[in-house]
Amino acid sequence: MSLSGSDPTLSEVPTVCPYCGVGCGVLAATDGERIIGVRGDPDHPANHGRLCTKGSTLHLTAGRYGRALYPELRERRGINRRRVSWDQAFDHLVERFASTIEQSGPDSVAFYLSGQLLTEDYHVFNKLSKGIIGTNNVDTNSRLCMSSAVAAYKVSLGADAPPCSYEDLDHADLVVIAGSNMAWTHPVLFQRLEAARASRPKMKVVVIDPRRTETAAAADLHLQILPGTDVALFNAVLHQLIWTDAVRKDFVAACTEGFPTVRDAVRECSTTWAARVCGVPEASISLLATMWQSAGAVLSLYCQGLNQSACGTDKNIALINLHLATAQIGRSGAGPFSLTGQPNAMGGREVGGLASLLPGHREVSDARHRDEIERLWGVPTGRIAAASGKPAVAMFDAVRNGEIRALWIVCTNPAQSMPHAGAIGEALERAECVVVQDAFTGSETARYADVFLPATTWGEKSGTVTNSERRVSRVRAVLPAPGEARSDWAIAAEFGKRLARRLGRDAGPMTYRDCEQVFAEHRAATVGRDLDIGGLSYARLETEGPLQWPAPTTASGGTARLYADGRFPTASGRARFLPTPYRPPVESVDARYPFALITGRLRDQWHSMMRSGRTPVLHGHEAEPLLHMNPEDAGRRGIAEGCLVGVTSRRGGLALRATLDRSLRSGQCYLPMHWGSRTLLASPHAGSNVATLPVTDPRSGQPELKHAAVRIERLIPGWVLAAFRAADDDHDAPLALADELRSCIASLPTKADGRDGVLHATVTMFPGRTPLVLVRLAATAPFAEAELARLDAQLGLDAASTLRYTDTRRTESRRILLDKGRVLAARLCGGSEVTAACDWLLGQAVTARDLRSLGVRLLALRPEGMAVQPNARILCNCFQLSEAAASEQLVRLTGSAADRLRALQATSRAGTNCGSCLPGLRSLAREVASDHRHAPAVVS
Ligand code: SF4
Repeated sequence: MSLSGSDPTLSEVPTVCPYCGVGCGVLAATDGERIIGVRGDPDHPANHGRLCTKGSTLHLTAGRYGRALYPELRERRGINRRRVSWDQAFDHLVERFASTIEQSGPDSVAFYLSGQLLTEDYHVFNKLSKGIIGTNNVDTNSRLCMSSAVAAYKVSLGADAPPCSYEDLDHADLVVIAGSNMAWTHPVLFQRLEAARASRPKMKVVVIDPRRTETAAAADLHLQILPGTDVALFNAVLHQLIWTDAVRKDFVAACTEGFPTVRDAVRECSTTWAARVCGVPEASISLLATMWQSAGAVLSLYCQGLNQSACGTDKNIALINLHLATAQIGRSGAGPFSLTGQPNAMGGREVGGLASLLPGHREVSDARHRDEIERLWGVPTGRIAAASGKPAVAMFDAVRNGEIRALWIVCTNPAQSMPHAGAIGEALERAECVVVQDAFTGSETARYADVFLPATTWGEKSGTVTNSERRVSRVRAVLPAPGEARSDWAIAAEFGKRLARRLGRDAGPMTYRDCEQVFAEHRAATVGRDLDIGGLSYARLETEGPLQWPAPTTASGGTARLYADGRFPTASGRARFLPTPYRPPVESVDARYPFALITGRLRDQWHSMMRSGRTPVLHGHEAEPLLHMNPEDAGRRGIAEGCLVGVTSRRGGLALRATLDRSLRSGQCYLPMHWGSRTLLASPHAGSNVATLPVTDPRSGQPELKHAAVRIERLIPGWVLAAFRAADDDHDAPLALADELRSCIASLPTKADGRDGVLHATVTMFPGRTPLVLVRLAATAPFAEAELARLDAQLGLDAASTLRYTDTRRTESRRILLDKGRVLAARLCGGSEVTAACDWLLGQAVTARDLRSLGVRLLALRPEGMAVQPNARILCNCFQLSEAAASEQLVRLTGSAADRLRALQATSRAGTNCGSCLPGLRSLAREVASDHRHAPAVVS
């Protein structure tokens, strides 16, 4: 139903979700001033009206709080930035960049972009860097995301082009999901897969993942391999396919080259060997090979588990080898399908927005390609450098060693997202000039900016994006830009014009009327290439909707599937088999660092949470940074649920609370990658990337973000504080309150000398009847009374009606504020037991329960006769059903897992809207149905 249907003052604008690479169409309803709601676009072929929990809450992230509204400039380090006009900002930057280029050459400057930019933004920045300045130092966070998939597609199939379509999910007989928890990371696509399975029960799903994720739990076969052993597994499957004569010799002979070399290379890769390397039963590997052999159509879906590795390209190639050996490519329901992480990583590659690329999938190393683009761009012959620029990790190394003196960062947060975050912080400190261009002010990277430029974001931008299945969609502005914010492409174009004039170069190539003219230039660069979009225009996308490339002028529509004719865009026209010898992970575990740290994503958060972190609704599923540990490993170290632990790699460490997680094998731990120093306040570089290592895949340049060796120690704080406050039920109120509490905590010294006493401090949000902001803090010694009083004042606990208790030694104290019996705010401190008591109070605040009858007994740590509910995790955001409540209800119900789930849905409606919680609910129902002794997660 239309959001605007009943109200003539509202209108709906079709656009695209800015989160993952599924690229769902969104209808955004607006009253002209705000975006007041969103729904899935029923006409968009990527999602047919569906949105996941992130997409369906987009309007809740579109408020003004924390938005960058005007340019800021800092003349020298150590002083604060001040507001300046765009002219002042450009004048400063032009002089800075021009003098740097004149003194140290064009390669002394660099641009670091983002897969969240629109194609038009990417295009203009790429042209500015390569065509105006003459440096190929332009790279992007897509390097951290998809570059191994790109390298493998190019080397194996001849072009950076996923050959499949989402509709292949409806036709596959076997779907192999490798290194992807797509139930969380590509939820709308996963729902399509589940619907296809329901209508075609013979379809099988195999998941290859070191963790038993919700995706794995739903599979027919889960190969829980040891981290980084994918190549050994794929080689063994190929070995068995060859051994059992399952290779399609006709296809291999007619359409490929290099098979004999690969056949020889996997000769020793038996399933017995692979079982030992991968740590899974040999029978499971054999079964996968048998399933592959007997399936009519095999589709593989893969993502960061393969890509984010020092041998990521090999992992991709080894999987593609299986498709080539069995002719599982170029036909309905079959093919190797890389799921793009970011919304427009594809568009970025199309315009050549990587250090080695030029527009239209051309290479900087190819003189003919450089010549073609120079003519198209109208820049002098020889302007484009022949040598590759620096890919992301090398780029930041060069910033750290002074080779790159000025760095322009656009729409991304490298201080939080790059590996070895400590070294990235050093690089940004040492750079002579850091420009940060972003829509939000508070990122970990923004604090390093000498010049901050305000950019538009989702809901304000216009242009195009390309999703995982090569489908180009129009992104439309719903509202005008706030404050003085400008489109990313327009900022690049204006700077480029001014810089060109200052350098005595022609400013004409940077002159654009609007973003449609930018698109036209990009389109021209694709004509005759593998991604030819000569037939696309804004007008055509308007009338026909999103279309898949190639879409040349001669075609009547887009192209759903590539390589149907068995011809590949290589020199010989054949796909290439390439050997992939197994190499173990770069950093193996040892006695000092005995745990394999796996990093990954949460269901409801996106990247470094600059957008998704803006609404409390998306914090309910996992509200704070937690280290996930196998329960037996934790037990052996005396670590219980919620205990504080230190996680340390050879590069750095962080302290956070532990949660016990049966999805992990012994010897492994898991840390979501989203959290940074805005949440974990105790250190400037606080996320998972404190621990990760900056080694990269030699062919793709993609860093090994998924795996590091760490040690884990239990930390025993001398003093613990847990607190929360309900924020006003207003868009921006929780964000403002969280920032106030952050500043307050940052300014609090401890009784112990200096701030070294703080082991761990977090400020997070949680959804409730009104949103809540939570504080957790662990220190070696208590805060002084005066400092606690400052925090209490920030929490509103200085009101006369606050219930108070302080013990005689003044090490324990509690403050609780009620409003008509409902908990409005609480602050408990003392021993570690206060955490559980605060969680109980939080549970009461979430449900707005009237606690008047308890009176001052509330100040007791465990109110008499009441259970402490440790698990406030919200499974269903749409209908606010917690995991504990769902579990409790499922236990009371009878019948099979499916029966119980149906009954739960009928009463709670959980899982009936966006569907993101369905995999979790199904897992829970299966767990409950298989264990009649199952009891709700309640500790009394
Ligand atoms: Fe957005 Fe979710 Fe669709 Fe991804 S699956 S594009 S996050 S709505």
